[in-house]
Amino acid sequence: MKRPRRIVVVGNGIAGLTAADTLRAEGHDGSLVIVGDEPAYSRPALSKALLRDDPTAHGLPPTSHGATELLGVRATSLDTGRRLVALSDGQELAYDGLVVTSGCRPRRLSDADLTLRSLADATALRSAISSRPSVLVVGGGPLGMEVASSCLAVGCAVTVTNVGPPLVDQLGPHLSSVLVEAAVAQGLRVLDASEPRPPADLVVTAVGDVPNTEWLGTSGPLGADARGRWRPEVVAAGDVAAYPSGRTPLWTSAIEQAKVAAVALLRGDEAPAYVPRPYFWTEQFGLSVKAAGTLPPYGDPTVVERDGTSMLLQWPGAAVAVNYRIPVPRLRRLAEAAAV
Ligand SMILES: Cc1cc2nc3c(=O)[nH]c(=O)nc-3n(C[C@H](O)[C@H](O)[C@H](O)COP(=O)(O)OP(=O)(O)OC[C@H]3O[C@@H](n4cnc5c(N)ncnc54)[C@H](O)[C@@H]3O)c2cc1C
Repeated sequence: MKRPRRIVVVGNGIAGLTAADTLRAEGHDGSLVIVGDEPAYSRPALSKALLRDDPTAHGLPPTSHGATELLGVRATSLDTGRRLVALSDGQELAYDGLVVTSGCRPRRLSDADLTLRSLADATALRSAISSRPSVLVVGGGPLGMEVASSCLAVGCAVTVTNVGPPLVDQLGPHLSSVLVEAAVAQGLRVLDASEPRPPADLVVTAVGDVPNTEWLGTSGPLGADARGRWRPEVVAAGDVAAYPSGRTPLWTSAIEQAKVAAVALLRGDEAPAYVPRPYFWTEQFGLSVKAAGTLPPYGDPTVVERDGTSMLLQWPGAAVAVNYRIPVPRLRRLAEAAAV
């Protein structure tokens, strides 16, 4: 297969930056342009340290790709026949290889509610909670619960409303009860969505996301093969993409998919396929959770180790550390050792 000479990356989040670094590491010495509508930063920090105490917690290590960066500009449309990406500033970029890493945006229930996805959202929310308003968080997934935890930590009265107990869909009933118990002990009010909502000064919704694929002339996640290819010369990675193993909008999956997709753009079928090994972490209500394997786990776990609130738990196909220091590779091995 002929290697592309002109590569364009759309999206300068962690997937786009990783793809660009990988392209260079794999020997791409042709042109490389990254188009991004915002600066690069660490998104997971936004709902954690940045909201609570450290407004600088979102820094990323320097990159090595040496690409031409077109920032503050959006890709607005794609012509796959002529291989052109049109930009919001009127430019058109020609490509032989295109990397789609345009991520996703929050699903909105109302224009009046706040959501948290971007650094601008986080800065606005940080400023809004500084006067300690009462806060209603709609959606009890990991993001909603992290927002609730941070708002509570700065002194707001916080209610979370969710369909069923928070976190069950992502972490299963056992871990949901561990985390919700810690949250309630710290003063969080938890309501079921069927109960009336209390009045609140501020409403934050965290009810899922919408992949940014409209500029590709499509909607929904971009379906890719196991090497991240949407077309032979167009690959996708991260929150925007759905691989055959499914869509995994997580930080580590974005990095691992971006590496696979970048190599596939250069080497085609000779590139290794993506092997999903989901890993994710969350920090909330004084608990730091690291989870590897197939989530959510159901049933009672095997307790591998436990000391107070620190525990290492194992299910068939999954392993979870709560306030327990463990290297990610070891946690993954535990999850895979227990797989059925
Ligand atoms: C607040 C928050 C906390 C999180 N915490 C965790 C966590 O603790 N653990 C975990 O595993 N995951 C976490 N995640 C998920 C994780 O951050 C994402 O999976 C990851 O950032 C996805 O990276 P990405 O590069 O695919 O997408 P993004 O980070 O969304 O990057 C895509 C970039 O492309 C830009 N873009 C979009 N459309 C265009 C266009 N047309 N032209 C140009 N640029 C465009 C976007 O503005 C964005 O900058 C969190 C997410 C959020 C929002």
